[in-house]
Amino acid sequence: MAAETLVRAGVATTVYEKMPSVGRKLLMAGRGGLNLTHSEPLERFIARYGPAAERLAPYVEAFPPAALIAWAEGLGQPVFTGTSGRVFPKSLKASPLLRAWLARLSELGVEIRTRQAWQGWSEAGGLRFATPEGPAETQADGVILALGGASWPRLGSDGAWTEALAGSGAALAPFRPSNMGVCAGWTVLFAERFAGQPLKNIAASAEGRSARGDAVVTRYGLEGGVIYGLSAGLRDVMEARGETVLNVDLRPDASAGELTARLARARAGDSASNQLRKALRLSHVEIGLLREAHGLALPTGPGELARAIKAVPLRLTGVQGLERAISSAGGVRLDQVDADLMLNARPGVFLAGEMLDWEAPTGGYLLQASFATGRAAAEGLLKRLGRL
Ligand SMILES: Cc1cc2nc3c(=O)[nH]c(=O)nc-3n(C[C@H](O)[C@H](O)[C@H](O)COP(=O)(O)OP(=O)(O)OC[C@H]3O[C@@H](n4cnc5c(N)ncnc54)[C@H](O)[C@@H]3O)c2cc1C
Repeated sequence: MAAETLVRAGVATTVYEKMPSVGRKLLMAGRGGLNLTHSEPLERFIARYGPAAERLAPYVEAFPPAALIAWAEGLGQPVFTGTSGRVFPKSLKASPLLRAWLARLSELGVEIRTRQAWQGWSEAGGLRFATPEGPAETQADGVILALGGASWPRLGSDGAWTEALAGSGAALAPFRPSNMGVCAGWTVLFAERFAGQPLKNIAASAEGRSARGDAVVTRYGLEGGVIYGLSAGLRDVMEARGETVLNVDLRPDASAGELTARLARARAGDSASNQLRKALRLSHVEIGLLREAHGLALPTGPGELARAIKAVPLRLTGVQGLERAISSAGGVRLDQVDADLMLNARPGVFLAGEMLDWEAPTGGYLLQASFATGRAAAEGLLKRLGRL
């Protein structure tokens, strides 16, 4: 996005990428349908960035969701808004968008050089790269670093750039997983039978916070939107205490009283599982989860059973690490860059995207802020070059 902004202003632009191809994390995001942005009012949207909201607001306001949608549509990727308010390309893929985008960048004259791993600066102020042909150095009138966070390191953004930057005096916050799964210490039986199965439209709460949405059972615990929504708070608690309890409401749209009445009408002769299936349409995985949490102590009276369904207590034993987290918290602290995203310690160097220290839940907020800061960093550089 930064390259597109620069080249449109007539600036010769080269993208250096350490991997054999660009956009690998974008392609991975496409596996989940590529949630580009969100349709909620801008004020609420910006609040999703939590402590970083105030700092990110000007960039997102200057390149808001509507502008991102117009940009995607300009690349031949019409979008739709899901029932959750999330915005996706109709193709539900990243590859057509990335293909069209790379073709456009090439037409505009952006040169993309792959297998070029940036290593820092030479004493003469040049950019140093490790390349298949050996070390290389290049000079530039301006630099935008958009090296990503540290989640899913095998896609390229492995955070190895932190050393090169820390050497230049920029203060960094350590990387931590964000939007990651939680470990629940399932019994082998439950994990084998139910791993991969969805828990649709549930509510979950822990440590005074709650979220609604879907989750999926994994071999080690739970993943999915409802978990990601709580994951930053869960991570902080786990780091301090090592465990917590997540209460899952399997029927958030019905009160305990309604559930009790429906269970009371169930046929007395039916097994508990059959009553739950017939009276409340609980799926096998939902019944399995109830039994996993309560074991033999699963209550039998309608009132108690209803209350158990409204708060299935799951003991969490950890969170997933950076390898499989959707995003990361940490990176270059926002007080290290000026309003144009220029690094205070290194004038002429601008930063964008997830390498800056902000985090947000899933919902399109990650890509929106990455794109918006990419644009803002390029505009900052254009101003410095006297081109804006
Ligand atoms: C599984 C998954 C699903 C996701 N789904 C969504 C979603 O639906 N919606 C959403 O908003 N967000 C989603 N995200 C997050 C989103 O993809 C990222 O927040 C976004 O890609 C960050 O953009 P970026 O440009 O800052 O970094 P990246 O996209 O990580 O790009 C950084 C690039 O820099 C390169 N690089 C790193 N170090 C060097 C170096 N030293 N020299 C040269 N090149 C280097 C990397 O190889 C990489 O190509 C998802 C992420 C994952 C992992």
